[in-house]
Amino acid sequence: MTIDLADPVALAASIQPPTRAVIGGRSIDAASGQTFATFNPATGSELAQVAECDAEDVDRAVAAARAAFEEGPWSGMAPTERKQLILRFASLVEAHTDELAVIETLEAGKPISDCSSIDIPDLVATLRWHAEAADKLYDQLSPSGPGKVGMVVREPIGVVGAVLPWNYPLMMAGWKLGPILAAGNTCVVKPAEQTSMSTIRIAELAIEAGIPDGVFNVVPGFGPTAGAAIGLHDDVDCVAFTGSTEVGRHFLRYSADSNLKEVLLECGGKSPVIVMADADDLDAAASGICEGIFWNGGQNCSANSRLLVQRSIEEELMQRIAERSRDWVVGDPLVPETTMGAMIEEEHLGKVMGHIADAHEAGSTCAIGGHRVREESGGWFVEPTVFTNVDPSSRLAREEVFGPVLAVTVFDAPEEAIRLANDTDYGLAGTIHTTDLRTAHLATRAMRAGTVAVNCYGEGDITTPFGGFKQSGFGGRDKSIAAHEQYTELKTIWMDLS
Ligand code: NAD
Repeated sequence: MTIDLADPVALAASIQPPTRAVIGGRSIDAASGQTFATFNPATGSELAQVAECDAEDVDRAVAAARAAFEEGPWSGMAPTERKQLILRFASLVEAHTDELAVIETLEAGKPISDCSSIDIPDLVATLRWHAEAADKLYDQLSPSGPGKVGMVVREPIGVVGAVLPWNYPLMMAGWKLGPILAAGNTCVVKPAEQTSMSTIRIAELAIEAGIPDGVFNVVPGFGPTAGAAIGLHDDVDCVAFTGSTEVGRHFLRYSADSNLKEVLLECGGKSPVIVMADADDLDAAASGICEGIFWNGGQNCSANSRLLVQRSIEEELMQRIAERSRDWVVGDPLVPETTMGAMIEEEHLGKVMGHIADAHEAGSTCAIGGHRVREESGGWFVEPTVFTNVDPSSRLAREEVFGPVLAVTVFDAPEEAIRLANDTDYGLAGTIHTTDLRTAHLATRAMRAGTVAVNCYGEGDITTPFGGFKQSGFGGRDKSIAAHEQYTELKTIWMDLS
């Protein structure tokens, strides 16, 4: 399917929404026959009715995944063959980039330009990277001395449940699926209820690519029903969760209350960006700061939502940020020029506007934006917003807003910046802008976060692990070989030859 970016209405009309669960290689309705509505955040209108899976469907999907793991060809397949199938899957996804980008834009309210040039290519690249790793990782022989053979081998964990968020639906699906599949596991994926359709569509493509039935199952549905059923299932060996810290806690409890399944959590953030007075390119810093908070409308776990700026450059930096924030075009996500789409749902819009009202009340200064916009569209849009004079103990400085709202606080001494940066329950990411090598090195080691960027907004690439310290994460990392390894169990094979 070739899309015509100049004709958004035709684009939207061209989509045949995929709405059924995918279990055991077949597209099926929920056992209960129930469906739920999924909405377009840019218009507020219903897009489709999606199969509402619950515990019964999760049982069916886990049984299919278990059968595919124990009896099917997947876990016992030569890694080279598994690689070929995942590569074929990646190529089919790539061939359907346009269609997937439109589905993602319609249900997530994300700009079509992001979906087609960032999110879908990221999914393809992630699948390819992990597929290529499948037949290049060696096991180990221990240095145990003569007469003894100690082999340390990695084996797939088994059935992995993946419970996903709505903010980067296919990118997050790829960060789980790539290593889960490449390591030889089977899976049951529950997309966020707001964004089920793109994940259902890629499961259909996986089947078309020849990935065996039952290896990749999708159960659309709600968290407290389908999500909890995965977390509590006694035949799920591991749960990979990306979402809020609050729901992440549920998964630890589910594991404790069931079979002690492994739990991997990628949760929320309140990431700081520090700008030192010696930063030589304030314009570049301002661009990075805007990207860090306005990309995806701030609905980004690693959004740099707290700016800590050294007092002597505050005024100049704020001027540059005001200029750069005007580069962000809030609009219809199907229009290629749009760079900021809608908030995911009305309730979330209310939460973001609540934080803005709260910041006013707390005495912070609204320097940029602060309003809901494009209300006439029926959609849920907020303009780029920046508050200055933000008290580090205020809600805006401490809670994850998950919207395009930057909190600015001034510091005097560098040690104060590090203290403020680390004064948070979270630890997903951080950034520092400085030209001083010593400051950069010391700050990157002092910041308690999973990724620290210098003089740019960035999360690394597929070769680098991504995950959080403190309440931003638990148990593992997405991306890189670290992700591949976390979906395996270590086994020791011991032989005494004496
Ligand atoms: P969420 O926690 O509300 O939902 C995530 C998933 O959990 C959804 O599939 C949802 O249906 C399910 N769920 C909800 N309640 C549940 C329950 N009681 N039991 C079982 N499952 C349940 O998160 P969200 O609103 O979809 O996503 C936003 C959050 O995700 C933010 O906090 C963001 O920081 C985080 N996030 C983190 C990363 C990362 O890599 N660290 C990446 C993207 C998003």
